[in-house]
Amino acid sequence: MAETTDPEAVHAEAAAWYAETWDPDRPLGEWWQLLADAGWAFSRFPEGFGGRGLGGPAAKAAERARHEAGAFGSPSGIATFLAAPTILTYGTDDQKQRFMPGIVNGQDVWCQLFSEPGAGSDLGGLATRAVLDGDEWVINGQKVWNSGAQFSKYAILMARTDPEQPKHRGITYFLIDMEQEGVDVRPLREMTGDAAFNEVFLTDARVPDADRLGDLGDGWRVGMTTLSHERDPDNAGMGDAAAFEQPDLDMPVGQYAEALAAKVDGFSLALSGGATTILNGIVEGSGVGSEPVTRQALMELLSMRRTSRWSGERAVAAVKAGGQPGPEVSTLKLVGSEIARRTRDQGLGAMGPTGMLWGEHTPENGLFHAYSMFTPALSIAGGSDEVQRNIIGERVLGLPREPGESDQREKPWSELPRGG
Ligand SMILES: Cc1cc2nc3c(=O)[nH]c(=O)nc-3n(C[C@H](O)[C@H](O)[C@H](O)COP(=O)(O)OP(=O)(O)OC[C@H]3O[C@@H](n4cnc5c(N)ncnc54)[C@H](O)[C@@H]3O)c2cc1C
Repeated sequence: MAETTDPEAVHAEAAAWYAETWDPDRPLGEWWQLLADAGWAFSRFPEGFGGRGLGGPAAKAAERARHEAGAFGSPSGIATFLAAPTILTYGTDDQKQRFMPGIVNGQDVWCQLFSEPGAGSDLGGLATRAVLDGDEWVINGQKVWNSGAQFSKYAILMARTDPEQPKHRGITYFLIDMEQEGVDVRPLREMTGDAAFNEVFLTDARVPDADRLGDLGDGWRVGMTTLSHERDPDNAGMGDAAAFEQPDLDMPVGQYAEALAAKVDGFSLALSGGATTILNGIVEGSGVGSEPVTRQALMELLSMRRTSRWSGERAVAAVKAGGQPGPEVSTLKLVGSEIARRTRDQGLGAMGPTGMLWGEHTPENGLFHAYSMFTPALSIAGGSDEVQRNIIGERVLGLPREPGESDQREKPWSELPRGG
């Protein structure tokens, strides 16, 4: 393990390890296990859990060594960027030992069971009930918009354990086994044509009390930690393989990397930032790049991207020096949605009439169209733009809360109007 956090020393150690170990013919599962065991999978995670407890600059140096070696990276998904950091923060030793190995080596797919038909932005109003029966909790309710639930082995779940408490205080956080009879997952078709997310019906589903994460009634605080990671573009759990589906772990890793690159869709483009490269190609090919209005718009986009990256890195580093990412990350999420909208509008505008078409025969084989169709999701998932503005106003700038909210915060949840 690295004795030092000096970025150059870490880079040298990682480079030597990749030179010796990287082999595209290894089975994917074996490669991910090697990465996790060596602590290079998620180098900012603690030792023993796929990482080395490195700080930002040293972790980036390790990633640079991996890129230079052309080696495929660690798994990525709700398991690594939401479940893992929350378990590492609130989990008991037993929970960390049981759940973390399958996360950092890519064996276990996880999903997030937070949103409900009447509780999205107002997540604190959630109605899914958890009732204690011996040493198990019995869960009943409906969740919605749950990405990747159809492929998941486990989920992070927020449920109401005490309806007589004010809404934020009667919630508890659980780690639930999705592969049980009481869990019914129904995929939903989106306007992109994909069925990435689902409705999940929980009917007498069971969770051992040993799989409760955090204290009874403390689920709001635990859930806010998860959401702060979801809004953090510098999330330590981001790997290379941003896929919700469980891959074939016996497949040669090189072959898997190629298949993943070929399968790029609107969602992965939105996450990777690859749309910018495609936009530049569209602008160049359409000849509008020399028009003053287009040039001005592209320059604005470039400035937004640079400013966002620069201030994001500093804001997140400053916040992280003191622990978990704070409400400041909402500014980054908000700017990210705006950049995506502007990228979409510039690209479709530059295409002219073909911008209105759909399918693989459109420019860029339909990839930019798929990205464009996905962009509204960025302003909704992980908390809508309006909700981010409320967070910035109330929790960063210290402005007064929304009218009537204080009253709602103190009343028992059972006395509140549903969805209110
Ligand atoms: C691609 C995608 C993936 C997702 N994946 C998951 C997942 O894996 N797991 C999960 O649990 N959820 C997931 N979600 C759900 C997401 O968290 C919710 O959609 C989001 O929190 C908004 O909730 P809602 O859809 O119920 O909208 P609503 O809360 O009904 O909001 C409707 C509109 O009202 C506005 N609004 C609401 N309250 C206020 C307010 N106080 N002030 C101003 N405006 C307000 C909103 O901004 C929005 O425009 C996903 C969503 C998307 C788009």
